[in-house]
Amino acid sequence: PVRLPRPTAPRVLVVANQKGGVGKTTTAVNIAVSLAQGGLKVLVIDLDPQGNASTALAIEHGREHASVYDALVDGASLADLARPAGEVDNLWVVPSNVDLAGAEIELVSQVARENRLRKALDALPGLDASAEDRFDYVLVDCPPSLGLLTLNALVAAKEVLVPIQSEYYALEGVGQLLETVELVRANLNPDLEISTVLLTMYDARTRLSAAVADEVRAHFGERVLSTYIPRSVRVSEAPSFSQSVIAYDPYSPGALSYLEAAREIAVRGAAMGEAEGGPAEPV
Ligand code: ADP
Ligand code: MG
Repeated sequence: PVRLPRPTAPRVLVVANQKGGVGKTTTAVNIAVSLAQGGLKVLVIDLDPQGNASTALAIEHGREHASVYDALVDGASLADLARPAGEVDNLWVVPSNVDLAGAEIELVSQVARENRLRKALDALPGLDASAEDRFDYVLVDCPPSLGLLTLNALVAAKEVLVPIQSEYYALEGVGQLLETVELVRANLNPDLEISTVLLTMYDARTRLSAAVADEVRAHFGERVLSTYIPRSVRVSEAPSFSQSVIAYDPYSPGALSYLEAAREIAVRGAAMGEAEGGPAEPV
């Protein structure tokens, strides 16, 4: 595998879109695996009670297992909760479990309820930019809603990665997300930005996909990755084998395009650091 450039500081990307089924989890999982294969140290935080990202990365997440719930509700440390993804080097996962569905309600009565994930991440030694073995990337997989869990993610990060499904009304679907991001910027986290947009389930044979891509690009400009993820059965089969498509069928178009999208993300991330003054670290 190609070695990818490290960002100058850890990047936290929230994978969000309040619509279900647009490819959030698939994107979080496959970008994470691609970055890790490129030699970067990656943490996935599964913030969806359904636990699809945990499943796809073969992390057990039954009720008896500790999960991100313990960090959000009881203040447990993410360092203690992170588990190595057995099949992939450099990749760590904080799993979710079904208790997380209740966290949305339990948190309402707690102080600083929207700051829980930020506090947990601030306390993670692996996010200290100078730490020897720091994480390079943290990917947070969000549930399909803009509730307190997604809010916690938006408060904790600088960057949002929005997967957009290549279908009718794709942009209308993200309107609410854009409003929420603006609200969070104005009130809770001025550093937040939508840095990355990825078109998923792209069908090169249809004019619809091309039209959606044009529309999304007109709206988000350079933030749209030039790589599109094709619709492919291999991508949808992989999770039932508790695998990323990168592991399941490494030369399939879906795997190759996720690898390429991850490379774009990493190259942009390294360039970002340079633009801010510090040179990117040697690969
Ligand atoms: P979300 O997390 O936004 O709800 P998922 O990542 O779970 O979306 O994707 C929804 C469904 O679509 C899943 O069954 C997934 O396997 C499938 N899927 C995702 N991306 C692709 C793709 N590129 N081609 C075919 N199926 C896909
Ligand atoms: Mg999901």
